[in-house]
Amino acid sequence: MATVKKIDVLVIGGGPGGTPAAMALAQAGREVMLVEAGRGLGGTCLFEGCIPSKIFRETAVRRHAIAQAGEFGLRLDGREIPAVDWAVVQTRRHRILNQRAQGALAKARALPSLEVVFGRARLTGPRTALVELPDARRSIAFDRAVLATGSVPNRLPIPGAELPGVLDSEQLIEIGFVPESLALIGGGPIGVEMAQIFAMLGSRVTILEATPRILGPVDAVLAAHLAERLEADGIRVQTGVHIDAVEGDAQAHRVRYRQDDKEQKLAAQVVAIVAGRYPNVDGLGLETTAVQHDRHGVKVDERLQTHETGIYATGDLVGHPMFAHWATAQALAVARHLLGAPAAFPRPEYNSAVIFSYPELGMAGLTEEAARAAGLDVAVAAYDYRIDARAQISGEPDGLLRIVYRRDDRRIVGIHALVEGAADLMGEAALAVRNGITLEQLAASIHPHPTLTESFGLAASTALAE
Ligand code: FAD
Repeated sequence: MATVKKIDVLVIGGGPGGTPAAMALAQAGREVMLVEAGRGLGGTCLFEGCIPSKIFRETAVRRHAIAQAGEFGLRLDGREIPAVDWAVVQTRRHRILNQRAQGALAKARALPSLEVVFGRARLTGPRTALVELPDARRSIAFDRAVLATGSVPNRLPIPGAELPGVLDSEQLIEIGFVPESLALIGGGPIGVEMAQIFAMLGSRVTILEATPRILGPVDAVLAAHLAERLEADGIRVQTGVHIDAVEGDAQAHRVRYRQDDKEQKLAAQVVAIVAGRYPNVDGLGLETTAVQHDRHGVKVDERLQTHETGIYATGDLVGHPMFAHWATAQALAVARHLLGAPAAFPRPEYNSAVIFSYPELGMAGLTEEAARAAGLDVAVAAYDYRIDARAQISGEPDGLLRIVYRRDDRRIVGIHALVEGAADLMGEAALAVRNGITLEQLAASIHPHPTLTESFGLAASTALAE
């Protein structure tokens, strides 16, 4: 009879929602097994998401900056816009990914009570699992489990979606060339980031979005401003569309779609379907347990425990918001809870995130719409980066800041910034929102000059003076 390995905690999935939980539990001396089905530790974020997309963006933004060199008194005698050597970009991506994956594995392997296993895990009951290895199977008995299998790209039921050259976001990361023209089906964060990256690299890009506006849950004023910016930068943004079909072959495609009941056709060398992601529950053996799920994700209580006592779920697997730092915050909270320590489970109203559009769009806390929908009486302290010293110096003055605060006590419930550099403003924004900082406190904080963070103090003091 095959031996059964008995452990304290089984963690399935080595992404941002799994690895930090496994490591925190092992650091505290629990016997932990972390099972990962992919190429290494890091998950979608490392291999197909956050990191590779930002590696591409770095090349795109640098190319764009070189194209603007004349404005800064730098003359490029000869070629004005650098040619893209895509093979080098992809090699750089592989190098950074491998380095990060190896670093993560080394850290995990340094923990004596953590066993990292590369294979596919499947629950076989409320306290048992089977791990499929390339050449063997291992039976596991566990006391607790953390499910962190993430999400996979949404497959839309569009005729032609399966044609060669019609890619999902993960395949787009692997692309071997910069397409002449690119049609992106989906105007969410991934669609917008990819649109601007490839447009800056020289592709002709169109976004086809089903809903009336791009970036649905984002601050509406900032989303509208960014949509105008995309158009001004030559990206076509078609909203309220219904895709009828994708036709063609690996070399050239045609997207047939309807907008306002008018039939439209769009030719594109590459079509990418980037319309969100759905929780990865397939093959996880949930049916052998009481764990429940629907199309939004695995159902959990406020402590991220599923309907099966002792089995927890984190990250993209439990649905929106789908961000790496959110998954990690959940993972660490579950670990603390399992160790019997007080755990602050992350709350959506305190989340922060960045869409790495151009300019960057950072958000912390509630949008004005979400705050009103929650019954809060709020006002907005606004700021236009066209008057900002730092933004003028960097040549990127196009942007807006919106600080959402309660009218009664002027506590800040949300900070939303669209400006190149917004990513690095979100630390202060998250701190302000999480701690219910008031406009007065923000105005009284001394922000260094000339930096973008000054905008927080200036917006607050202007609103207080009104
Ligand atoms: P994942 O990272 O998906 O990890 C799940 C892991 O589980 C995978 O490694 C998978 O191989 C493994 N697995 C699945 N099934 C099994 C099984 N049965 N047995 C063993 N292992 C299994 N987020 C940000 O915060 N910032 C960004 O800038 C950002 N950019 C993104 C850009 C793109 C293009 C995409 C697609 C996503 C981006 N995200 C970003 C989202 C981010 O990648 C996810 O929110 C995050 O990776 C979720 O972490 P997770 O651990 O829940 O899931």
